[in-house]
Amino acid sequence: MERLLATSRYTFAVPLSDGYGLFHASTGSVFRLHGRDAKKLAALLSGNHSLVHESVLGAELTTQLQRAGFLVAPDADELTAVRERYWQARGNAPVVLLVTTTMDCNLGCYYCYESRSDEALSVDDADTLVDIAKERLGRRGKRSLHIDWYGGEPLMNLEFMERASQKLQDFCAAAGIAYHASVVSNGTRWPQDVGGLVTRHRIREVQISFDGLKENHDRRRRYRPLHRGEQDLSSFDQAVALVDQLVRHTRVDLRFNADHGNAGDLAGFIELARARGWFDAPYRCVLMVAKLSAYSDRSAFLRPHELSAEEFEELQEVAERLLPKEAQDDQDIVGGFPHPKTSVCGALAPDSAVVGADGLEYRCGLQVGETHRAVGSFRRDLPLVAAASPGTDGAWWDSFDPTRLPTCSRCSFLPVCWGGCPKRHLDGDGTGVAGEGQYWRTQLPRQVAAGFGESVPQGFAFTEADQFRDDSREADDENEAWHA
Ligand code: SF4
Ligand code: SF4
Repeated sequence: MERLLATSRYTFAVPLSDGYGLFHASTGSVFRLHGRDAKKLAALLSGNHSLVHESVLGAELTTQLQRAGFLVAPDADELTAVRERYWQARGNAPVVLLVTTTMDCNLGCYYCYESRSDEALSVDDADTLVDIAKERLGRRGKRSLHIDWYGGEPLMNLEFMERASQKLQDFCAAAGIAYHASVVSNGTRWPQDVGGLVTRHRIREVQISFDGLKENHDRRRRYRPLHRGEQDLSSFDQAVALVDQLVRHTRVDLRFNADHGNAGDLAGFIELARARGWFDAPYRCVLMVAKLSAYSDRSAFLRPHELSAEEFEELQEVAERLLPKEAQDDQDIVGGFPHPKTSVCGALAPDSAVVGADGLEYRCGLQVGETHRAVGSFRRDLPLVAAASPGTDGAWWDSFDPTRLPTCSRCSFLPVCWGGCPKRHLDGDGTGVAGEGQYWRTQLPRQVAAGFGESVPQGFAFTEADQFRDDSREADDENEAWHA
């Protein structure tokens, strides 16, 4: 009997020099269409919901397209498959403790929204941290622990870091649990023996932020009064000297924070990194361009400085063009092509936690200090500060499911996006959430074309109709003519 199949809601078509490239956002499959009917078939497969008779495409092509997910059973529930993968990823997420050793920082960056209080974890809190790790690992019997040292500037509380790191490693060694760590730092408070610190703390990744070339960086990342040591000449020079050493011991993620005032420095910064040998070092050095943005009400003052989506895209193109392949931030690319998501951020990982220097538990590092966003307290002597809507955030995080949101559930980018940053949804940041759609409309075609070794035509982007398909029965009827 002849098979009757339906087009998938997750197929995208990209024009190539010879035909079209298909990409399936949920299976990650790719397929190249050549020949006379390529354009028509690409439009059918990536358009509104349509029924397709096997006789139209022939048995062989129909089977190939069905295996790759581009054709599905007419009653297939593709959204449920995405939902199952999402919840599986949440359950399987590794245990990561993001530990704010101190809220203090020696620099006063103009865009920093953090409270910069002198609140800090004390060496006596090291045992509590081990208890937290034990409890989180024990919940689902997980066998690996990752600590992300965070601040303020985490190295301003080196005493705590040394004590806690040793205790955590001792515990993990005794329990047969894998241990590794990372650091997010401004690069100005590291001791002389960088290699020793990396080894002692089992650090496999360090993120150092730059705000442009020396002039811009130093102006934006000034030393705060009474926080400037005798040796501190330039926060830029110190961070550069640190990266020179770090790349010999561990992976370095360079984060270039871009806004209107320093976007023009990116090309020069990449040149500087190349000239210093950071991209040819023994360990991988990756550069990611981040858009300085207002993450919450506390940083709303940043809005006038933010790059528009188009300006940010241009900057990413500069990075793509100038960076060697190994230095590009390609975590969403597998085998050259974009890939459906299989992991969640730490805020959605049920066994992970953000440990605030104030002793409170948060879900996202960007919330530390926003006590009304805390979801718990680690210190028995510290009652959870009354939240604006007490108790609701914890439940919100536990149940956040982009596949059930009215917009994301209808979106064809869902399997590669999963709603983007969940904090934006929590904060009701409609502009930020809309920015995710804008990102995928322009970036996904470029990523798919790059996987085929090509570029999309100048200005090509997916449209709103590509993002939100009509999967009603009427759409089937409209497309019926194609099958005849
Ligand atoms: S909630 Fe957003 S900002 Fe926070 S960890 Fe997740 S993705 Fe990052
Ligand atoms: S692109 Fe926008 S609508 Fe689509 S899944 Fe991401 S956040 Fe949701």
